[in-house]
Amino acid sequence: MNPDRTLLVATRSRHKLLELRELIDVPGVQLVSLDEAGIPEEAAEADLEVYDSFAENARAKAVYFHRRSGLPTIADDSGLCVDGLDGGPGVRTRRFAPEDMAERYGRDEANNFYLLQRMRGLPEEGRGARYRCAIAYEDGERSLLVEGTVEGRIADAPRGDGGFGYDPLFVVPEYGKTFGELPGDVKARLSHRSRAARALTTALREA
Ligand code: IMP
Repeated sequence: MNPDRTLLVATRSRHKLLELRELIDVPGVQLVSLDEAGIPEEAAEADLEVYDSFAENARAKAVYFHRRSGLPTIADDSGLCVDGLDGGPGVRTRRFAPEDMAERYGRDEANNFYLLQRMRGLPEEGRGARYRCAIAYEDGERSLLVEGTVEGRIADAPRGDGGFGYDPLFVVPEYGKTFGELPGDVKARLSHRSRAARALTTALREA
């Protein structure tokens, strides 16, 4: 990618922007969020992630926001895939627990509780799981797609209060600890998002 360029990150989450800014380090390239680029929120944004794969959802977002901005754009989609749930919740990870449960306990808490409920009675091998992340890049001439994965297991009960989402239930076998228990820098090194972001950095540096 040419130096001295702006790269739009198709997110309205400050947390995600800061994380990707740390991870995607291409000389001369500056990452900006949708809000920083002055792209107003539109109703259509809610319906972009309708596909059955992380890759297609990431692509749809990157293409949509590239068309609206004219800028080179990256977009990601990620989630948790559990062996005993046939790879679910997958692309439905964010809204896994029913809405009434999420309203009552908060989204992350409800998702974790619901995951444990759905895992009840599954054999041990069903606890194998992975976080997956796809990042798509679109600039009108070139499209790139990278993916990152981190393997783990689902714990019997939440442990630790670091990270977010399903991290208190996601055990990293090499450490015997959940992402909720491990220091942030360990997660930052091992995570699906950091692996995908590193792959994208390499691809952009070469492009
Ligand atoms: P999205 O890619 O922002 O749509 O994320 C989908 C959902 O996957 C999030 O809302 C979380 O529930 C879950 N998720 C994605 N990455 C992580 C992670 O690093 N830790 C815990 N949960 C995650």
